[in-house]
Amino acid sequence: MEFEVTASRKRPQSLMELSGQDFVVATLKNSIESGRIAHAYLFSGPRGVGKTSSARILARSLNCEEGASITPCGVCSNCKEIARGNSMDVIEIDGASNTGVNDIREIKDEVLFGPGSSRYKIYIIDEVHMLSNSAFNALLKTIEEPPPYIIFIFATTEIHKVPATIRSRCQQFNFRLVELGEIKRLLANVCDEIAVKYDEDALSFK
Ligand SMILES: [Zn+2]
Repeated sequence: MEFEVTASRKRPQSLMELSGQDFVVATLKNSIESGRIAHAYLFSGPRGVGKTSSARILARSLNCEEGASITPCGVCSNCKEIARGNSMDVIEIDGASNTGVNDIREIKDEVLFGPGSSRYKIYIIDEVHMLSNSAFNALLKTIEEPPPYIIFIFATTEIHKVPATIRSRCQQFNFRLVELGEIKRLLANVCDEIAVKYDEDALSFK
């Protein structure tokens, strides 16, 4: 069953609000608070469990003007621009439509220039497993020796199609399907907040 919990009423603003991915949240929190920021993250798991949302939230956590934090302020211009998807320093690429080596070459050239108004220049590559082999090879050279201000966040539903050479250079996070009990609890919370009455049974998928 696929279920986009975060699409309900509002999207989570910080990693602490990310539902059902406790291990991911705990590890990222630890990494940010201790200042051990990886230069490549790989988020894997089924569709709709919050990988891309988490990538955007992580970008905000890292680039918030108040300082890198698990709870970015949400009101500074960096936070707002990332939320709107128009930050110059957070570049989202759909791996499914940019599969070729030329697309990756462009990234290789671009990473030589630092971020404009942020701490990091962050590339979010969704469906990264769709890249061609030559594109992966081109990318590998960049993630082997990234400039210190560059961070890659890859997301994939098919981790086994991502070459081991790329995987081994990433901090990997396996997102899991949110359990039914957790989904029911979230739905009940939303109903309570907007004062909608419901039958317990109606919260289940039967
Ligand atoms: Zn901020």
